[in-house]
Amino acid sequence: MSDAATANEAVLNKEYLGPDSLRDELHAGLRDEQVDLNTIKEYFTPSAWRALQTRMAALRQCSWLCGVCAKSVEDVRSVGCDRCLLWFHYHCQGLAGNPTQSLYFCSSCKRA
Ligand SMILES: [Zn+2]
Ligand SMILES: [Zn+2]
Repeated sequence: MSDAATANEAVLNKEYLGPDSLRDELHAGLRDEQVDLNTIKEYFTPSAWRALQTRMAALRQCSWLCGVCAKSVEDVRSVGCDRCLLWFHYHCQGLAGNPTQSLYFCSSCKRA
């Protein structure tokens, strides 16, 4: 069930969503960010809304983060280190363009 369907159901039943409504499958749908969270916010109680946001933040941390600045590497040119397997923004590794080596080692792995 999508979050929108869950919200609709809550409206139909004239009840607000509590923290218990925060099922895992709800979050899989929310994670793709197709959903404007603010459109469903009004259907959550304040405590449920906070619980949702906390879990959203935890979910988003599962996406790839730069090993230097800990920001998402999505939509930013980035490279994976073949030794530590972390991802890094080009600019966080001081790269001006594509690495020329077939294997890339980040600056801390190069130092090691
Ligand atoms: Zn970075
Ligand atoms: Zn590395």
